Amino acid sequence: MDLAVNLAKRSHCIKAQVGAVLTRDTRIISIGYNGPPAGTHNCDEEFSDVGCPRDSKGSCSLALHAEQNAILYAAKNGSEIEGSTIYVTLSPCIACARIIYSMKIARVVFLHSYAEYKGIGSDEGVDFLRRFGVAVERYAPGEGGLLVSEPPIAKKTV
Ligand SMILES: [Zn+2]
Ligand SMILES: [Zn+2]
Repeated sequence: MDLAVNLAKRSHCIKAQVGAVLTRDTRIISIGYNGPPAGTHNCDEEFSDVGCPRDSKGSCSLALHAEQNAILYAAKNGSEIEGSTIYVTLSPCIACARIIYSMKIARVVFLHSYAEYKGIGSDEGVDFLRRFGVAVERYAPGEGGLLVSEPPIAKKTV
């Protein structure tokens, strides 16, 4: 999870910065952070004053989410994804939850709750995953562990 928190800092997205690490048998098989596909846009540079174009839910319409980037990279490189664990700094949205489920990822560990930051009652992505048998847990640092992470939503103000 420390690595996911550090990866999140590499995101160029203005609104949210999220990192993800995909592991299998205690080895890292892929990493990702949210942002438009490589070689396309850098939201913070291109839209520094207006903010990036938003979809109907208010999210960046150009970005792939951290989970999507991590999973796509693993798939592209032929890594075995089934049965893996994904660590993510923000609980998965419903779109990512569908992909996580479809790729047969066994376990999701998240740091921040998307619903808590949005002030909404339930985490629909987490609900979806649990309902269909994917283990989802909130990250709990070990005894004496200290993990400092900024809230990922609205970290950078436009
Ligand atoms: Zn963006
Ligand atoms: Zn997502």
